[in-house]
Amino acid sequence: MAAPTWVAVPDDSPFGVRNLPYGVFTTADRPRERRIGVAVGEYVLDAGAVTAGRPDDTAALLSAPSLNPLLAAGRPAWTAVRALLTDWLTDPAHRPAVEPHLLPRTAVALHLPFEVADYVDFYASEHHATNVGRIFRPGGEALPPNWKHLPIGYHGRSGTVVVSGTSVVRPSGQRRAPGEAVPDFGPSRRLDVEAEIGFVVGGPTAQGTPVPLADAEDHVFGVCLVNDWSARDIQAWEYVPLGPFLGKSFATSVSPWVVPLDSLDAARVAPPARDAALLPYLDDLDGSTPPRGLDIALEMRVCGEVVSRPPFATMYWTYGQMLAHMTVNGASLRAGDLFASGTVSGPERAQRGALIELTWNGEEPLKLADGTERTYLEDGDEVVITATAPGPDGTRIGFGEVAGRVVAARAQG
Ligand code: MN
Repeated sequence: MAAPTWVAVPDDSPFGVRNLPYGVFTTADRPRERRIGVAVGEYVLDAGAVTAGRPDDTAALLSAPSLNPLLAAGRPAWTAVRALLTDWLTDPAHRPAVEPHLLPRTAVALHLPFEVADYVDFYASEHHATNVGRIFRPGGEALPPNWKHLPIGYHGRSGTVVVSGTSVVRPSGQRRAPGEAVPDFGPSRRLDVEAEIGFVVGGPTAQGTPVPLADAEDHVFGVCLVNDWSARDIQAWEYVPLGPFLGKSFATSVSPWVVPLDSLDAARVAPPARDAALLPYLDDLDGSTPPRGLDIALEMRVCGEVVSRPPFATMYWTYGQMLAHMTVNGASLRAGDLFASGTVSGPERAQRGALIELTWNGEEPLKLADGTERTYLEDGDEVVITATAPGPDGTRIGFGEVAGRVVAARAQG
């Protein structure tokens, strides 16, 4: 049953009043004025306008041009703001004051919802890591010896994180063709997608202060969708020994809506059984905290056709473990940090979240309904990733979408 709200929201809406994701929008009449919005049904609540003049800090947090001040304010502020929003949208007494600030979602343009501080990408799916290991290192061990002892990650490029709808220019770089001794230069021939979940961080920490597992919820504000575009040919040539670099840093797309972690309580599930004993700072099996696996069902479309349904519930490492690991050396957190899960892949072929796995590095092309085949992405292809999760009382929590279209490589001088 959906929670009661005076807003006209269908019971099965992925943006019901139990979700209330945050974004940043502009309208055609004020195109330079970025404002914080909260999605509810087919509307966006202009959160700054509705809080204007309040005597507490809420107005300052919600009248900013990005979510960063709210992220910096930390968990108590997040809880208080969410309670206020829920009250305004459910208690009919607030309707006269709030309703004038509801705009149709079709009438707004959505922007990058926060200024990305540091960006880290993990590699937390055992199925993905195993598949990629078999493809890149045939005959060797699929998983490296550290994989079940720590969540592997790398630092990405925060300045090239873009919002859904931004076109992605095919990157050029060094590629070494199979059987060749030396690389040549040109547009990537193996442009791929990675369907991932991203975690948006707030509640800054001081350098030298690790974030223990038990404190993860004080620092994870919310969840978004991520497409970690990847040029496999550039990546394969450059990645040894320091990891991904130019094969990843040209673009990373995120969804415009950040779903509050608070809306995902009904989606919590136990993570898969771990095969290796975990060091205490990563050991989440003592039952002292809510389980941090999340039952988020992703769907990936290429050229309008569903090619994969990756299940996030199968991820080996949780957001709490990723956060504990990335701060265990004392690295500090900043408001706007983003860490992503790595490609989400389940055990079945139709659950693989990247083309390298779906086509086994091009050996088994995907056949699309229009009769064409894909190994990797072609110019003009559009990729759309969506997701939903169970919400409280039988409701559904939607994440919206992260979409992007590939455009041809720029001519090189
Ligand atoms: Mn990735």
